[in-house]
Amino acid sequence: MTPLFDHVFPSEVVTFMSDRSLDFAQGSKIPREGRFNAQQKSFLAEQLGFVPSFLADVRQVHGRRVILATEEFMRRNDFPEEADGLVTNISNVALVIRTADCLPVFMYDTKRKCLGLLHAGWRGSYQNIVQQAVSIMRQNFRTEPQDLKAALGPAIRSCCYQVGGEFRDYFPREIIHRNQDVYLDLPQVNTRQLVELGVWKENIFDCGLCTCCDKRFFSYRREGNEAGRMISLMMLRETPTQKSSRS
Ligand SMILES: [Zn+2]
Repeated sequence: MTPLFDHVFPSEVVTFMSDRSLDFAQGSKIPREGRFNAQQKSFLAEQLGFVPSFLADVRQVHGRRVILATEEFMRRNDFPEEADGLVTNISNVALVIRTADCLPVFMYDTKRKCLGLLHAGWRGSYQNIVQQAVSIMRQNFRTEPQDLKAALGPAIRSCCYQVGGEFRDYFPREIIHRNQDVYLDLPQVNTRQLVELGVWKENIFDCGLCTCCDKRFFSYRREGNEAGRMISLMMLRETPTQKSSRS
């Protein structure tokens, strides 16, 4: 899978999403060094052309907690914390989330040079995780929504995402009725929430790929508990000026 959003974000931002060629599912209680095994690390090195100096991940719980990945966070983060999003402004720290139908949301503040990566399933979206992420970015980096660019990765879409009737109450605006059934447009939920926060619609890019239709991806809906996990990765590349000012 090639980097998805090179045309969306400026060159200092690295984005990547894996396909089903390698399973990135997270075992339970895996310490830091074991979260990414040698095969996964070499796969990433091959795909990205470099090895990120730190892979910051979380234990995803379908909530709205978003963590600031600081140097302190990385020192003490022996076990992944329970959260569904990460933000940082530190270069070479690769934010990582895992999905198999849920929506990966990539965000970059073009002015403050900080980024966020979210795991937005219906539960996280119902709790408006994008709002929480923008609020954490605002608190820590003075992010203004109009400076944000956002990209929505491969996820299950309204072509396949049949849901129960109770979703009419959860997402009244993003429900689609087809035949007798109810479908949810999850990327549209997140797009609306971003726009309500003040992100410009023209700064939101949706890749449009459906993980359930497109057999290149793992899909929980299609494969059930056997489904592996893809990773989404987002990183701020160290620029030559930062390098020289540090030495
Ligand atoms: Zn589909």
